[in-house]
Amino acid sequence: MRRIVAAIALTVAAAAVLAAQAIDVSRYRIVDLSHGYGPATLYWPTSTSKFTLTREANGPTPGGYFYASNSVSTPEHGGTHLDAPRHFSEKGRTTEQIPLEQLVAPAVVIDVTKECAADRDYRLTREAVLAFEKSHGAIARGTAILLKTGWSRHWPDAKAYLGDATPGDASKLSFPSYGTDAARLLVEERGVAALGIDTASIDYGRSTDFQVHRIAAAGNVPGFENLTSLDQLPTRGATVIALPMKIEGGSGGPLRAIALVPR
Ligand SMILES: [Zn+2]
Repeated sequence: MRRIVAAIALTVAAAAVLAAQAIDVSRYRIVDLSHGYGPATLYWPTSTSKFTLTREANGPTPGGYFYASNSVSTPEHGGTHLDAPRHFSEKGRTTEQIPLEQLVAPAVVIDVTKECAADRDYRLTREAVLAFEKSHGAIARGTAILLKTGWSRHWPDAKAYLGDATPGDASKLSFPSYGTDAARLLVEERGVAALGIDTASIDYGRSTDFQVHRIAAAGNVPGFENLTSLDQLPTRGATVIALPMKIEGGSGGPLRAIALVPR
């Protein structure tokens, strides 16, 4: 009897430990931050390829069961995707080398929707980040910054989203993003995990020298581009889980990003 009691006590203790270790998903709202991939997916105007899905099987088999299988082909940089540091740095980490701590991280959402509605070429400034910290507290090391411009409301209208829909021509793009001084502050001084945004690029549309990409890449900070549903996240408290396809030697890749928001 004593042995049975001891065994039960052990089992209860083990169950308690397991319960303490598991993430109770019911305590979170799960928000999908990725656009779907399909014929409407937006790419940089100079991209020579797009996402394609080719049906290889879709129907009954001689064995009497249904079978479906496709092949897919996609540029790394289109739709909701990751920019690996290698994208703009010869020595930067490639997609599969990015530490998971930079892809699973506490999120801070900086809301510049109003500024972007007034100026589609808006760039986040150092002063705006400092003002944000004054209101919402310091940005800790290892935070994933999600810059909310409100731009995903234009998706997938290329003209509205990118500012220009001329195929093969990226010289007339217009959409908001990070500015260089804000990027330097976040990457070099705050040591953020990642820079995310709900527009096509972590550099604004008119950029021709991609300074923000270069600052982020030099600090081995990845970018999350073409995010959506940032309006469903709190300023603080969410955890972002942004896991790209693990492409070996990749400069980026399609990204399924979600956020866990405490209920
Ligand atoms: Zn990219």
